[in-house]
Amino acid sequence: MQRLMHWIDGAARAPGSDRWLPVHEPASGRVYAEVAAGSADDVAAAVTAAARAAPAWAALPNSARAAWLERLAAALEARIDDFAHVEARDGGKPFALARDAEIPRAVANLRFFAHAATQFASESHHGEAGLNYTLRTPLGVVATISPWNLPLYLFTWKIAPALAAGNTVVAKPSEVTPASATLLAELSGEIGFPPGVINVVHGSGADVGDALVDDPRVRAVSFTGSTAVGRRIGARTGAALKKASLELGGKNATLVFADSDWETQLGTLVRSAFQNSGQICLCGSRILVERGIYETFRERFVAEALALRVGDPMDSDARMGPLVSQAQFDKVLAAIERARAEGGHVLCGGHALARPGWFVAPTVIDGLGPDCATNREEIFGPVVTLQPFDDDAQALALANAGDYGLSASIWTRDLVRAHRLAAALRVGMVWINTWLMRDLRTPFGGTGASGLGREGGMEAMRFFTEPKNIGLSLE
Ligand code: NAD
Repeated sequence: MQRLMHWIDGAARAPGSDRWLPVHEPASGRVYAEVAAGSADDVAAAVTAAARAAPAWAALPNSARAAWLERLAAALEARIDDFAHVEARDGGKPFALARDAEIPRAVANLRFFAHAATQFASESHHGEAGLNYTLRTPLGVVATISPWNLPLYLFTWKIAPALAAGNTVVAKPSEVTPASATLLAELSGEIGFPPGVINVVHGSGADVGDALVDDPRVRAVSFTGSTAVGRRIGARTGAALKKASLELGGKNATLVFADSDWETQLGTLVRSAFQNSGQICLCGSRILVERGIYETFRERFVAEALALRVGDPMDSDARMGPLVSQAQFDKVLAAIERARAEGGHVLCGGHALARPGWFVAPTVIDGLGPDCATNREEIFGPVVTLQPFDDDAQALALANAGDYGLSASIWTRDLVRAHRLAAALRVGMVWINTWLMRDLRTPFGGTGASGLGREGGMEAMRFFTEPKNIGLSLE
């Protein structure tokens, strides 16, 4: 059976404990590989390697670090199909989604931050009190911790700015989907990346995550994952006074107005609900619809959801694959049962598919108000609710109900209304008449239970550097 190892100091390493965790193929539920079950000792070895490599990496000219990231991007781009296969097998996402969107976006992350390394500039302030200028220096060793839903995309989204800014990295991918990060680390070795600059330690959050967050040599933690784990990491980094960027869960609203082009945009609206089986933090899981079109919209949306082809990730017609794990499958089915118990009407789906693997049919539910658990708690599966609204004020109140504040989308031709609502929504990102339109320069992140801090563009470069202001008298 394939064994996925740590990558420490430029080489594949077995776990010191010789313990391994099973890795499952969601489409069948079978174990297809084992991944290193890391320990605090493995973390310490990786941090030591990263600390040793840090001064030389930080001392490189920005253009030299950019060239390394470009080389890694090119090596990844040359193997998009291999990586897409790995991602489809490991995470259950349709191969075409990995090949056409997620792996190319991972390449784009590496390239974007290669450019950022050469474009990043610090500030100077003149005219009030002499001359002030700010140095932005690398932090040293940083930790990145990423989830299973977009494994390589989010892994590169974090390591690329960390490396571009001159830090060395100890990265912990999700133990649920460890394969693509392992392959990328091996690729970094093949192209001769300096040892110790990129390190990957696998294992559970309890065994590896805590040790990594707590290591005093780790100066910052960039985390994407659940709100519960984010709170725990925030508490620990807070106590140790180290930087943390926390990108957490969401319960995003989709606001559909009667004057929108919703009929022609129905495909995008359905995608925004069910892409990657609803396992994207940005999916719209609460669809709010103006009452005048509610019934027609509901009928058409449910028809589209029923027509979504759910199937094996390697089936080129499949638009949706399985959920990522038994735990996620159980959680989603329990959430559907809870919705029924709360009085929700299941309009379509609401059940697992009768086949091996962790497949759940696209599920649309209505009849539930904003205060029930179904509309307040993140489900992170192919489950959405519909709620009608009468006017802008009610749409806004429904959208802002709840603790999360990651993203929202607004669908209307009335751009005055769209901008007014966009400003009033309590979220970090709003899309108007589109969904998941990404520009890597923009700040990415949420408010409330959706997290703390922003990543993306120069926000990420600033996060991964320490500013130092120097004031000079001109007298
Ligand atoms: P998770 O919080 O269970 O795990 C995320 C990562 O944290 C994994 O690598 C895990 O091993 C690690 N971890 C677990 N316990 C830890 C600990 N005590 N210390 C340090 N690390 C620990 O999340 P998940 O189930 O993998 O991912 C799904 C969640 O991620 C959802 O809530 C989703 O909304 C969120 N997410 C957010 C964004 C965003 O940008 N805001 C993007 C994608 C996913």
